[in-house]
Formats: sequence, structure tokens, C-alpha cells
Amino acid sequence: MVITIGKAGDNDFVVNDPHVSRYHARLSRDEEGCLFLEDRDSTNGTFVNGGQIVKKKVSPTDTILLGETYKLDLSEALKAGNDYSEDFARLKEIYDTYIEQKVKIQSTNQFKTRLLQTLPFAFIGVTGVLISTLGKGSAVLFGISLFVAICVPVAGIYLGAKQSAKIPRQLQDLSNRFKIDYVCPKCGTFLGEVPWESLSNRKQCPVSSCKAKWVKD
Ligand SMILES: [Zn+2]
Repeated sequence: MVITIGKAGDNDFVVNDPHVSRYHARLSRDEEGCLFLEDRDSTNGTFVNGGQIVKKKVSPTDTILLGETYKLDLSEALKAGNDYSEDFARLKEIYDTYIEQKVKIQSTNQFKTRLLQTLPFAFIGVTGVLISTLGKGSAVLFGISLFVAICVPVAGIYLGAKQSAKIPRQLQDLSNRFKIDYVCPKCGTFLGEVPWESLSNRKQCPVSSCKAKWVKD
């Protein structure tokens, strides 16, 4: 991959600055994925982190100046060559976090639901013992125990059902956010619930008008 940079209209990345030469610099990527910036005998020179260069390995955190005044945005220049690999790489974390949170929501809710549905039955057992021992001879105590023995399990079952109903809503919220974040960095098309590794095997966006390269050649 090579991206030419300069003032002339036939460069991949056209810069409109009086101090930038017509064919000022060239950005390339080697087989290991390292980026190199090369000056093309420009009039005012190319500078990386304050030092003038002929050819130098660069990264997005470097401060790059063309002709001492024009600050080159490396990721913008890469996009001119349809190279979206830096942005695409960030999608891995978005996918991993999504799966992690989905599993978390499901397991937490499962535990709470099961707890709420099991407790009432434990309670019935305890109350049964209380009724048979304490309730002997006292009609009022027997009545109260019976009332509690019925109400608590019903409440537990109700809360358990309510808890399990929360799952779809939380998952819906999570999936809505995922649909906004897990998109092609260039065209914004949602990439589906497809693992990041599978997408990276495709190397580029399947949308024919997009042409974004997700993984460098
Ligand atoms: Zn795309």
C-alpha cells in the first residue's frame, strides 16, 4: 500500500497548503504492517517529532509536519488510501465487550430468578414446621402463619417472573448499543453478530461501494 501526499490533484491525499510541494511525501506500509513516511525531495521538507526526515517509520502518535507548518493527520491520510485497519482493529474490543456483557446479563438474571423462585418453597417448609409446633391451640397464630405461608411464596413467584422479564430489556439495550458501535469504520454498515476474527478474514468491507480495507495487505 502506497499513499502519495502533496498539493497536486493526482495525489491520493491532496493537501492545500502553500508550503507543501506538489509531490511532497509518500506513505507506505511494509509486510509487517509498519508505516513509513518518505520525503519526495520537497522544497520545505518533512518533519517527524521536530526532526527533518528522508524516510522514517511513523505511528499515529507522531507529530508530522509537511513544510514546517502543515500538520499531517496520519489516520486521515491512511483513509485516503482506503486503509481503515487502525479503526477496524478497535472493533475487536467492542465485540469482546459485547459478548462478555451479554453472558453476564444472562447469568446474573438466571441466578436472581432461580433464587426468587426457590426461596418461597424453603419458606413453606419452615412455616409448616412453625404451624405444627407453635400454632397448636392458638387459632390466631395458626391463621397468621397460614396467611404468611401463602403470601410469601406468591410474592416470590411474582418477583421471580418479573426478574426474568428484565432479561429481554437489558439485552435489547445492549444490542442497540452494539448496532451503533460495531460498524464498518468507513461506510457505517452494521457488521452483524459476527466474531471480529471472522470479519478480519474478509480483509475488506463487503459493501461494494465502500472499498474500505479492514486489514492491511
Ligand atoms: Zn464499509
